[in-house]
Amino acid sequence: MNIDKIVILSLKHFTLSSIIEVAIPVPLHNTFDYLCDQKVSIGARVKVPFGQKKVTAIVLSHKHKSDFEKLRPVEEILDQKSLLSKEILDFLFWSANYYHHPLGEVLASALPKNLREGKPADIKKTSAHKNTLSPVTFDATTEQKKAIKSVLKSENNFHGFLLHGVTGSGKTEVYLSITQALLKKGRQILVLVPEIGLTPQMIARFEERVGAKVVAVHSQLNETQKLDAYLMAKNGEAGVVLGTRSAIFTPMPNLGLVVVDEEHDGSFKQQSSFRYSARDLSFMRAKLANIPLILGTATPSLETLKNVVDKKLTRLVLSSRPGQAIMPKVNLIDMRNQTAEALSVPLVAKMKHYLEDNKQVMLFINRRGYAPVFYCTDCDWKAECDRCDSALIYHRQINRLKCHHCGFEKMPEPTCPSCHQKTLRVLGYGTERLEENLESYFPDTTIIRIDRDTTRRKKAFATHLEKINSGEPCIIVGTQMLAKGHDFSNLSFVGILDVDVGLLSLDFRATEHLAQLLIQVSGRAGRSDHQGEVSIQTRYPNHKIFNFIRSSQYTKYASTLLKEREKTELPPYSHQALICANSKNKNNAEKFLNEVAELLNNIDIDSVEIWGPVPAVIEKKANYYYFNLYLQSINRNQLHRVIKTFYKHLEKIKVSSSVRWFLDVDPVD
Ligand SMILES: [Zn+2]
Ligand SMILES: [Zn+2]
Repeated sequence: MNIDKIVILSLKHFTLSSIIEVAIPVPLHNTFDYLCDQKVSIGARVKVPFGQKKVTAIVLSHKHKSDFEKLRPVEEILDQKSLLSKEILDFLFWSANYYHHPLGEVLASALPKNLREGKPADIKKTSAHKNTLSPVTFDATTEQKKAIKSVLKSENNFHGFLLHGVTGSGKTEVYLSITQALLKKGRQILVLVPEIGLTPQMIARFEERVGAKVVAVHSQLNETQKLDAYLMAKNGEAGVVLGTRSAIFTPMPNLGLVVVDEEHDGSFKQQSSFRYSARDLSFMRAKLANIPLILGTATPSLETLKNVVDKKLTRLVLSSRPGQAIMPKVNLIDMRNQTAEALSVPLVAKMKHYLEDNKQVMLFINRRGYAPVFYCTDCDWKAECDRCDSALIYHRQINRLKCHHCGFEKMPEPTCPSCHQKTLRVLGYGTERLEENLESYFPDTTIIRIDRDTTRRKKAFATHLEKINSGEPCIIVGTQMLAKGHDFSNLSFVGILDVDVGLLSLDFRATEHLAQLLIQVSGRAGRSDHQGEVSIQTRYPNHKIFNFIRSSQYTKYASTLLKEREKTELPPYSHQALICANSKNKNNAEKFLNEVAELLNNIDIDSVEIWGPVPAVIEKKANYYYFNLYLQSINRNQLHRVIKTFYKHLEKIKVSSSVRWFLDVDPVD
């Protein structure tokens, strides 16, 4: 054998075994090849040079040859074993493909920051602590027993369930019983809850009841805690993972059940960068693991109800509250007959009645701050944000006018900037002004305000909840932070203010969301053994929504909405995608979307409608102009084919560097 031949052979050997394909967290839809002369597993992290930088990449495959001529070598192998298992990789591939989002960014978003940055995958604080099982004194109702049995029957198959339980019907007890049964068989449980639903109480409830390690995954953990939680889930040490939407990507080798609690909640949808819905992805997660899925709620989304109609979900019903507790009675206060702007005479009378009876009352208003309008009574000047198409909200405690869209804030002027008179006033109510107003009616009663302004500090929310849970008579004032899953046992009366905005909205989902909100807020009233009462203030007492809310017939109302959606071919009877573009120069964003629309219209797929571009509801935000282009089809596959084709031809459009844009599959607002 001559030397030339040996060189060729060894070169061949080199190319045969030493190219790896990796995903890099950059906004590009392709993968990258590198040379690697050591053994490395698929799903492991490697450090590679990328441009001038060094980045953490995930190994996707071993290749025999590459389409690229000059390949750079891998700098360092970070994981000796695979970090992302095949199962979780498959799930992430599917997610990236469905949302048409760059794979590298999807993989990176599924990892804790420390792992993204290439730090070692080692648990820092190993806590040997395992909970000791406390005796369970839980008497399941017949309906609860039936639900538990149905889910456990499918323990080794993919089967989706809607656990449709009225507020206070004990859905969590059902999750806990199933969790206990599956943990005994060595399975792990993933429970997703809304952002605000993951309270220390919820975590404590699981910890008390299940004889396994419970780890919480949410944004308030520090990076070490996040990494530890991730690794304990991955190595099977954690029996239960309780987390907000991003927890859907937690690796769990023995996954036996996925629960999405309060599935109708908007916080399961990520609204930036990788825009996924954890609720929607939970189907694929459970399918790939071949296990049951439970979506739990008192107010199922129309998407979920349609899935029941289509037999993709089996509906399990909890129609009553356990024990003596009954549903609250709901009445309306016609604000057309009232002179007060916020607190009507009948509302104040009802509050007095319940407070004198040593009960707690709650007022719900979905607006924080003091007043939404700051204006001149003389010349009609109004305080508006210079950077956005929106009014500035007055916050009295800090004496600031604030924009709730871009965060801009300033001190209010002492005189009208337009006519220079001392004629500036506020109009309308937010939580802060309501609190102040209540102090004059109820000077001796404790008032607890819960909104984003009073809960900014860590643990502030928990402190408020503790105070309420003491059961002392008090008035709770708050925004929709209050609507979710909190059980206040001494709360007997709920007043709902200012719902009319939701009735007048142009968003086709507004009435669905309002109905969910009204039922959820009403559901706070009357637990344990006393019936609660709910009063809703409105200027539209004849709106049909109230007939259903008054008789707690959410499902009936939702069915009428579902029929309307079917007739108008709106989601869930059709599928949408949104291309949103923005730029400082108004014309550039619109021009870009016009070109996109032209490209899309040239794609030969008939069943996809293109609509727009149209200005966004708030056209200008933080000095950027927003435009939307909608794609809609009754055929999901065709919609996705159009999007795929669009990406293939995207380079035909010259995107001005001043234009930023994104695609949102299944947008919700
Ligand atoms: Zn602004
Ligand atoms: Zn003026």
